[in-house]
Amino acid sequence: MLNHTLLPMRPELVVCPNSACGASGRIGVHSHKERRYKCHACKATFAETVGTPLYGLKHPAWLVIVVLALLAGGCPIPAIVFAFGLDERTVADWHCKAGSHAKAIQEQVVCQGAVDLGQVQGDELYVKTQRGKAWMATAMCVFSRLFIWGAVARERDGALVEQVVVKVRAAALIGRAILWAVDGFAAWKSSVLGVFRDPQRTGKRGRPPLVVWADMHVVQVVKRYSGRQLSGIERRLAYGCNRCAEAIMQASQVSLGVINTAYIERLNATFRTWMPSLTRRGRTPARELAHVETAMFWMGAVYNFCRVHKTLQGTPAMAADLTDHVWSLDELLRYRLRRE
Ligand SMILES: [Zn+2]
Repeated sequence: MLNHTLLPMRPELVVCPNSACGASGRIGVHSHKERRYKCHACKATFAETVGTPLYGLKHPAWLVIVVLALLAGGCPIPAIVFAFGLDERTVADWHCKAGSHAKAIQEQVVCQGAVDLGQVQGDELYVKTQRGKAWMATAMCVFSRLFIWGAVARERDGALVEQVVVKVRAAALIGRAILWAVDGFAAWKSSVLGVFRDPQRTGKRGRPPLVVWADMHVVQVVKRYSGRQLSGIERRLAYGCNRCAEAIMQASQVSLGVINTAYIERLNATFRTWMPSLTRRGRTPARELAHVETAMFWMGAVYNFCRVHKTLQGTPAMAADLTDHVWSLDELLRYRLRRE
C-alpha cells in the first residue's frame, strides 16, 4: 500500500499555500530536483512541504514519512532511532506534529455531523507509560469501523468519557437511530443522556426543556470473571428499548451476533499493545500524556483513512462515506485543514 521509497511528486494532492489563492487542481511540478511545485493560478512556486506537518524539518520528506508509517504500525521508537540513526527527540517531534494534524483531521472530516452512526461502541482502557498509568476512552462506529474520537487522562472519570461523547455527537447525522454499546462504567450512560439532548420548543415562555434524542438506546455489556476465566456476559438495557436496540445491532453488524463491545476492544487492544513503545518518558507527566494522545490520533487517523479493512474492502472512512478512495500517508499529511 505504501510506496514511499521513491516518493514521486504528486501535484494532484497539493493545494496552493498562498492564502490569497488556495487553488487546487492547477498545480504543476516546478522542479523535480528542488522538489518545488508551481501554482498556475497565481504563478507562485513553493517547496513541497509548505503547509504540511513536514514543513521546516531538517530531514528529507521521504524519511519522515517512512518513520511516521512505522510509528502508525506500532514500531517502537527505540527501533526507529537505531535503524535510522535519528535522535529520539526528533522522532517524537515528527510524531507530535503528525498527531496534532491527525487530530485536526478527525475534527474537520469525521466530526462534521455526516456519519450515520447506527451502533457506536465506547470503551476505556489503561495504557502503561513510563510515569505510570494513563486512561484512554475511545468510541467507534461498528458498521464502518470508523474510529471517531479518543481522550486521554490520568484518571478514569466522567470528564474523560464526556470528551469522547461530545465528539461522537459532533459526528452524528441528526435524526438517525443510535445504539450505544458500552461497558459497565456508568459515566457512559450519564454522558450520552447529558450530551445527546436538544431544547424542545413548546411554544411556552421561558427556557425550553432539554429532551434526549428520540431514537437513542444504551446497552451496557458487563463481563463476569471467575478468576481470570470469562464466566459470562450480561447485557443490560440502560436506556431506550430492547427491541429497537436489537434491530439497530442487526443492521449495523456485518456478522450477526449479540450486542457486544468486541470491535472497539480489538482496536483498543492494538492501542494498548503498541502505546508503551510509542511514547517516550516525558519531561513532565503532562507532556507524556500529550504524547500518548499524539500516538492515539496518529494511529487512529491512519487506521481510518489509509488502512484497507478486509471485510469492508476499503477503509473505514470510505465505508462511512467520508471519502471515495484509500488515502496515502502523503495525502493524509497534505490534507489542507481549515483555519479555525
Ligand atoms: Zn496559487
